[in-house]
Amino acid sequence: MIDDFIRFVRDTFPAADPVPLHAPRFDGNEKRYVCETIDSSYVSSVGAFVNEFEARVAAYTGAAHAIATVNGTAALHIALKLAGVAPGEYVLTQSLSFVATCNAIRYCDADPLFVDVSPDTLGLCPHALEAFLDSRCTPHPDGPRLRDDGRRIAACLPMHTLGHPVQIEALLEVCEDWNLPLVEDAAEALGSRAGGRHAGTFGRLGTLSFNGNKIITTGGGGMILTKDAALAARARHLTTTAKRPHRWAFEHDEVGYNYRLPNLNAALGCAQMESLPRFVQAKRALAGRYARWAADHGLRFIHEPPGTQANYWLNALQLSDRATLERFLTATNDAGVMTRPLWTPMHRLPMYADCPRDALAVTEHLAATLVNVPSSPLPVDLEHGAAAA
Ligand SMILES: *Cc1c(COP(=O)(O)O)cnc(C)c1O
Repeated sequence: MIDDFIRFVRDTFPAADPVPLHAPRFDGNEKRYVCETIDSSYVSSVGAFVNEFEARVAAYTGAAHAIATVNGTAALHIALKLAGVAPGEYVLTQSLSFVATCNAIRYCDADPLFVDVSPDTLGLCPHALEAFLDSRCTPHPDGPRLRDDGRRIAACLPMHTLGHPVQIEALLEVCEDWNLPLVEDAAEALGSRAGGRHAGTFGRLGTLSFNGNKIITTGGGGMILTKDAALAARARHLTTTAKRPHRWAFEHDEVGYNYRLPNLNAALGCAQMESLPRFVQAKRALAGRYARWAADHGLRFIHEPPGTQANYWLNALQLSDRATLERFLTATNDAGVMTRPLWTPMHRLPMYADCPRDALAVTEHLAATLVNVPSSPLPVDLEHGAAAA
């Protein structure tokens, strides 16, 4: 099976050696726009491309407001602050995520509370969330309290894992019942929709990432999405050192952050947004290829959950057990086909090991059996072949 997989990937990406897990593609206006910023001398936090990039992301996602930041982690940090997360409080989230989700919680001097994920979406499970709240928490008008220590739970932070939308409507219902603001970590989900609506636009706030390995990149970058005009204004203020607008005076009315995306990076982002529909199409075609290969070999391929359209940011296969996963990782990486497991779950990391949690059985099983496989959007000349295969 493994040798056949290696052959299949080599046939799919004939030009790449080694075959990367995910490489960005710059075959549009990237160079032109980046050079424009250099020629204009506006390369830093002031410049037309930042506003244009925000407008393009808002139009594409349908978010009323989009605020660009230096990276996705910074976007999450500010989104959590704006959702009301304060020192000593908790944020309900999934252990199955990239470390940035938990780090952003800690930047607010708060702690994560881990609830299990669904085996179908790989994201926060509404039933597990409800069970955790019912069995371990006390309701309160300004957010539940964890019964063990009486500390407030300030927000719920699901993540759209690998671009597969979580059961967002069901999560929103539970959160509404418990007076919990919901913030979406949609870092991996640009181009993913649930019920036709873009990931990251359901909660009070949502965040995106444009790191080098994401579906589009600005080198480094992130975005805060919200439909709330007041929160958007606060986000813009906090990410620009809380400086009062004035032609020459430097006056700041609180401790702000230097989190604004530079114009140079936003120029790259504007060009990448033009290619995004093409990338999503190419990645969905590639996913179709993997799905057929997996079906032929009796393996589970992670399909988009029913009622959603995933961007298939990173394709994933499920193997039978941890030993098979280890063998698969060794053989493929030895053969120049880059694969990797999901992240070590957050409750296994030393800084988050003591955080309260439920049993996390699904999280443990997925972390032990899922493998991410090469997922770069295919070059244009291969897209049609991939779609037709
Ligand atoms: C990429 C990512 C982020 C943000 O990462 P940055 O590198 O700071 O842009 C946050 N959460 C998840 C789940 C991610 O995959």
